[in-house]
Amino acid sequence: MSCLFCRVAAKEIPASIVYEDDRLVAFNDINPQAPMHVLVIPRRHIATLNDLGMDADGLVGEMVRRGAAIAEEGGYAARGYRTVFNCNADAGQTVFHIHLHVLGGRRLGWPPG
Ligand code: AMP
Ligand code: ZN
Repeated sequence: MSCLFCRVAAKEIPASIVYEDDRLVAFNDINPQAPMHVLVIPRRHIATLNDLGMDADGLVGEMVRRGAAIAEEGGYAARGYRTVFNCNADAGQTVFHIHLHVLGGRRLGWPPG
């Protein structure tokens, strides 16, 4: 298994896991860009958003709802937070296993860089 986040999900690589179930894993980003910076991934390997099929609609919905729940549990729901999927080179995607960034705890600039 060569994919970094497949290996995190399989616990072959240590991560600071904040949530897991049979379909998703969420863990703290190793290089946080905000006081809260969690990545929510599916256990199933999907390389980019371009590779999503209709069969993943439920899974992506679960990822987004889980990100919102993690933000709420961290106390960020009312003040706000950001969720981001980067796709391919122009967006700076570096790990080719889809992941939802959940960022909060500071004022986030817009438009993003
Ligand atoms: P992206 O640029 O959207 O592909 O985001 C990849 C993210 O994964 C970056 O924010 C990295 O800091 C993060 N990252 C890379 N390796 C690890 C790891 N082993 N554990 C946790 N986060 C990681
Ligand atoms: Zn993978």
